[in-house]
Amino acid sequence: MSVLSGADAHLTPNYARFPVEFARGEGARLWDSDDVEYLDFLSGISVSSVGHCHPAVVAAIREQAAKLIHVGNLYYTEPMSRLAARLAECSLGGKVFFTNSGTEAVEAALKCARKARRGGTIVSLHGAFHGRTYGSLSATPQESKQAPFAPLVGGFVSVEATLDALSAVVSEQTAAVILEPIQGETGIHALGDELLGGARELCDATGATLIFDEVQTGLGRTGTRWAYEHSGVTPDLLCTAKALGGGLPIGALITGERHADTFAPGDHGSTFAGGPVVCAAANAVLDVLLDDALLERVSELGELLREGLAPLRHVVAVRGRGLMIAFDLDIDANAVSRRLLLERQLLVNATGPRTLRLLPPLVIGESEAIDALERIAAILETEA
Ligand SMILES: *Cc1c(COP(=O)(O)O)cnc(C)c1O
Repeated sequence: MSVLSGADAHLTPNYARFPVEFARGEGARLWDSDDVEYLDFLSGISVSSVGHCHPAVVAAIREQAAKLIHVGNLYYTEPMSRLAARLAECSLGGKVFFTNSGTEAVEAALKCARKARRGGTIVSLHGAFHGRTYGSLSATPQESKQAPFAPLVGGFVSVEATLDALSAVVSEQTAAVILEPIQGETGIHALGDELLGGARELCDATGATLIFDEVQTGLGRTGTRWAYEHSGVTPDLLCTAKALGGGLPIGALITGERHADTFAPGDHGSTFAGGPVVCAAANAVLDVLLDDALLERVSELGELLREGLAPLRHVVAVRGRGLMIAFDLDIDANAVSRRLLLERQLLVNATGPRTLRLLPPLVIGESEAIDALERIAAILETEA
């Protein structure tokens, strides 16, 4: 029995893992336990935006771990206070609640919006993904993810991602509208400025809270700090996570002024969240990602990749923004992603039976973008 099949004896079978065991990483490169080198164009699903083991992040973790690892949320630490100020300042200007994951950032947003309008309905959109815990899952209208775990949380409705559908349900009884400016897990579909602007107007007219889930799109992924900047539409609550800790688990709910003091002592909490080590790592991550030159390069390399993908054999559509890219194939995407990994050592991921997604580290250079295109072309050319 190999080490890999042995592992499955003790891991619950809820992930379809590939037969590769990774041992180390640097930038956009990974090495497996046989020291074979790979090019990572998935970043642990938009997590390793600064690349693997960024030296500044490693140094921040080492330094903080030797000073203080945990003290809890009954006290202050400098890394936490500094990170909160920086996150608020680069987005909605209100206050920050720290979490350990994306789904918890969404849970915090839902609870905040419900407290602001007691008993109100939460409205989400078809094609959304907001996480796996019960509140977030209740806002994730996908039959395969919800059905085995019913009954879900009450007071959630989902509608088609159109302004007409949204207008028909948002009222004075709505606590919140939650959406991803670009829907990531279901194949990278941008919602369009008209829909975002319309959602803003509906929330303003009814007093509902507008929540943007930027767990995947935030922190430079689309070529701006936040994806909402492209539309000019500002939410009341903003959820972030994936890239924030450089690979360590941290998320945050960021509020605007209106919700800055909605939570009172005792309303909500988390034992580990906002710990000094993850916050020190996140401060080092922000130093790298909140950089105009880097953001500009993200936009340029995204264009290069999209232009390079479009003419390839079997590619029927390409979409995305910055380094958040999907392309549709006229063949099985899972088989292609498996071949890319095992034959060309390129990490990508299939978001659907015919769709592949690229989320490379934001620190890649042009040569790595071209290298990835060549590996993808090589596989697609040999497919019938
Ligand atoms: C990944 C993701 C989540 C869930 O984040 P976890 O850290 O896995 O809980 C929520 N919303 C969006 C948009 C995501 O992409």
